[in-house]
Amino acid sequence: MRLILLGPPGAGKGTQAKMLMEKFQIPQVSTGDILRKAVQEGAELGKQAKICMDAGKLVQDDIVIGLIKERIVEADCKGGFILDGFPRTIIQAEKLTETLKEMSLSMDAVVDFEVDNEELVNRLTGRGTCADCGAMFHKTSRPPAKSGICDGCGGALYQREDDKEETIKKRLEVYQDETAPLKEFYRKQGNLKTAQGYGTVEEIFSRVCAMVS
Ligand code: AMP
Repeated sequence: MRLILLGPPGAGKGTQAKMLMEKFQIPQVSTGDILRKAVQEGAELGKQAKICMDAGKLVQDDIVIGLIKERIVEADCKGGFILDGFPRTIIQAEKLTETLKEMSLSMDAVVDFEVDNEELVNRLTGRGTCADCGAMFHKTSRPPAKSGICDGCGGALYQREDDKEETIKKRLEVYQDETAPLKEFYRKQGNLKTAQGYGTVEEIFSRVCAMVS
């Protein structure tokens, strides 16, 4: 199965992608995670990307398209994959369609998570991310057992630079301008499904599973 998870930052795409990955045994492919790894490793590409990421802007299309093209041909993507945070522009979506066509593949479903802006800001500002495994916690809705420590791997939790309030505003604007038009793009292709992003993670997960199974 090949899935795209669409939706604004903070809508829960990463959390749902991890649950879908477990259920369907296919990898989560997150361009945000790939870029953060490149930043951590000090790669040249990471240095360029970091400037955009810290400012809440999108990284250049050619960079992320290149990363995705390399990633989806890896062996673990043979049985399918979950795209989390890609595509984010019409150009990226067109390139993805083209690349899959060359591989005689297509996407099975595009799930769009709907959450209003006030809730998104609350989720993002309260978020703590594990520096080691990337797991996410929230100070009120999903607090870790031990403050500042990841329940899963014991890594330290930090606030992502782009989860600070002033950057969040920019990310939401960028989402409206550049990414929201993808809903229409995929609606026209006939595979857009809309999931309400409210409730517990398990409730949202059941909604998504009912849509894609
Ligand atoms: P995310 O973890 O998906 O919220 O991504 C964090 C940041 O990485 C974004 O705010 C962008 O700066 C960058 N990024 C991730 N995916 C993309 C993409 N598909 N296109 C452009 N920039 C991206």
